Amino acid sequence: MRRALVTGAARGIGLATTRLFLEEGYRVVMVDRDAPALAEAADGLAGVVPVVADVSIPAEVARMVEEAGLSDGLHALVNNAGVADFGPIEATDFTRWRRVMETNLDGVFLVSQALTPALRAGRGAIVNIASISGLRASTLRVAYGTSKAGVIQLTQQQAVELGEHGVRANCVCPGPVRTKLAMAVHTQDIIDAYHDAIPLNRYGSEREIAEAIAFLCSERASYITGQVLAVDGGFEAAGVGLP
Ligand code: NAD
Repeated sequence: MRRALVTGAARGIGLATTRLFLEEGYRVVMVDRDAPALAEAADGLAGVVPVVADVSIPAEVARMVEEAGLSDGLHALVNNAGVADFGPIEATDFTRWRRVMETNLDGVFLVSQALTPALRAGRGAIVNIASISGLRASTLRVAYGTSKAGVIQLTQQQAVELGEHGVRANCVCPGPVRTKLAMAVHTQDIIDAYHDAIPLNRYGSEREIAEAIAFLCSERASYITGQVLAVDGGFEAAGVGLP
């Protein structure tokens, strides 16, 4: 049986990815730091192992690996846990900056490193969730965009370093999706601007992002590694600056 581990699995893109993996026959370790939300999300899902852990804390990541029970190997790791923060340079104090970096960048590094033995054993695939905000600068995303640009670089590093062990690493950059994370920072002005700027003229769905993730984890993508895939309704291709 194929085994996956998804971080930030209690809601949004992580929960949609968990559901799609289950449809594809995976057993899924669902990781999230929000214990009540994780319990509610996992309730009624057959084939999941919920593990409460904060991906930015090394001791919690070590415990997560023990509870995940992946000594026989891991086939798909989705580093999806993330936090948003929209603010320009002068409004972003160091506490705010660190909060974003700890989850969005440190978390991807810590979880991937801790699970590298399991990934090597399973000749698994990593999919890191960055963002179109990591592909180019904007006036609002100094911490968020920089953290996601770091995730893109880390993905390429993983692909180059782990390829000889049969481990692939790719990055998905979602465009806007109406999750709790996005709706906390998307003002009506931003929503309107996105609608106009996206060639498909709409936000994406969690499921549409999950489909790309599941493909990159599957054998159908067996020769794809080190790539960055924007799943964004054409926003990046249109070349319009981020609102
Ligand atoms: P969401 O807020 O709906 O879900 C994120 C989940 O991650 C939550 O359940 C939260 O509890 C968990 N989480 C946050 N920090 C954590 C930590 N330190 N340890 C463990 N769990 C943690 O958000 P979403 O929109 O589904 O976002 C998922 C990913 O997609 C994020 O990395 C986000 O940056 C990225 N993304 C989202 C959008 C969008 O428009 N929604 C766009 C681009 C990229």
